[in-house]
Amino acid sequence: MLKTIERNGGAPVRIPEGSLLIDGDWRSPSSGEFIDVFDPATEEPIAKIAAGSSADIDLAVQAAQRTFESSAWQKMRPLDRGRLLEKLALLIERDAEELARLETLDSGKPYYVTRNVDLEFTVDALRYYGGWSSKMAGEYLTLSPFVDDGGTYRAYTERRPVGVVGGITPWNFPLGQAIQKIAPAIAFGCTIVLKPSEEASLTSLRLGELILEAGIPDGAINIVTGYGATAGQALVDHPLVRKIAFTGSTATGQRILASAASQMKRVTLELGGKSPTIVLADANLDKAIAGAANAIFPNSGQVCTAGSRLFVEASIFDAVTMGVAAIADELRLGNGFDTQTQLGPLISKRQLERVSGLVASGIDEGAEPLSGASQENRPGYFYRPTILKNGRADMRIAREEVFGPVVLAMPIDDLRQVKALANDTIYGLGASIWTRDLNKAHLLAAQIDAGTVWLNTHNILDTAVPFGGNKLSGLGREFGSEAINAYTETRATCMRLEAPELD
Ligand code: NDP
Repeated sequence: MLKTIERNGGAPVRIPEGSLLIDGDWRSPSSGEFIDVFDPATEEPIAKIAAGSSADIDLAVQAAQRTFESSAWQKMRPLDRGRLLEKLALLIERDAEELARLETLDSGKPYYVTRNVDLEFTVDALRYYGGWSSKMAGEYLTLSPFVDDGGTYRAYTERRPVGVVGGITPWNFPLGQAIQKIAPAIAFGCTIVLKPSEEASLTSLRLGELILEAGIPDGAINIVTGYGATAGQALVDHPLVRKIAFTGSTATGQRILASAASQMKRVTLELGGKSPTIVLADANLDKAIAGAANAIFPNSGQVCTAGSRLFVEASIFDAVTMGVAAIADELRLGNGFDTQTQLGPLISKRQLERVSGLVASGIDEGAEPLSGASQENRPGYFYRPTILKNGRADMRIAREEVFGPVVLAMPIDDLRQVKALANDTIYGLGASIWTRDLNKAHLLAAQIDAGTVWLNTHNILDTAVPFGGNKLSGLGREFGSEAINAYTETRATCMRLEAPELD
């Protein structure tokens, strides 16, 4: 199952090939079909993953349901579910360098990022949710019944796991997103079938090896690779799946929500964004310039909360935009295994074409590039970090998610105008405000219609902080104490008590 290859002068990487993790076993896809995987930095084929079908999804969901109903799973002590997640965290830490190399190979992002950001976040998330497994508390309630029958009425509530979860993940943080679905599902007593993105499934499959090694019960975590339209849709439609946890595009999220409606499936959707970075005239300029660049360029802009619209008070507009352009010009693009590389390629040719097309549309509509706006003349899906000025709110590039290293800058005159412009979008995921004025910071933050507002920082994500979007950026919240609502249902038990000798 594991094929070892040496790439880019780096240490060997073991690539999991061609199988699906179902009921604790690696199985071939029932269709016998496979999907080629390409290194986005070289465009060379590196592996094949199984094209899971609806038949494979059915096997995986049936296994997850059997495990969920088993008395061994139902009776497992909450602390022991947490211990399983801790075992998985330890194994991921043991293999962190290899997993990071695999992620770099599959997604193109620099190794120092996959090792120090993706892998650290993944392990932290496992530990964070592991701690929650023993904290599923309910309430004890005193009732005021309309009957006077000599009894005393009380009720208690408890959180019950929803059942089988379908986790569907994108390609921008593949391993981290997989854990963001798996860890809360297991912590709160659910079982799960994960369908990773066909563009970046390798670390999820390697995770499967570690799930087996950790001794997680068969069927509790199943991994079925394949296309979204077949495997993904089959997971959404399966009647035994009680909840879908999805991260990806708004268009797919809308389709999933519509499909889930007929079965009244629980759904959490983490979708796209068009997040504003707002720089006010009193901001610390150096920090705001670095912050605005850092809001958009990391991971080549393939971040749902990327600050892709830059609003700057007119008096400092040129200084900020030229500063961001200077940072963009200096960023070194390259193969993620090269230690000099700061930005990797985009995930795919399709994504490269989408980003190039949106920038071209912006320029056609009057935007002016201050940096970038071009592909690199070499193999790989590289796009230069780009800042465009002369932006207008009605441009296509101001309204659609680019998901690339591209920011559109617009000057602003006052807070009222920036509030209106920042909220003039179908999205509501993130925003950042750069200012030294506490009054403006908090009062403006309160008026931004977004799930997260950062003050003098951007893209600080922490598993302890609830995360999700307003408007078309999503439904529900993951992370933090709110995750418990996403993976459990409240059950109320109501009772009549009577003991005359105690009256
Ligand atoms: P999608 O939303 O299509 O893909 C995300 C996941 O959903 C993948 O696992 C995909 O499978 C799966 N999927 C696709 N169709 C269905 C379906 N009908 N039922 C169930 N699952 C499905 O995103 P794309 O990869 O197509 O990217 C397109 C755009 O989406 C990007 O340009 C970007 O703007 C946005 N995006 C936003 C993300 C975010 O974090 N908010 C993450 C990724 C993309 P598969 O890929 O295997 O077909």
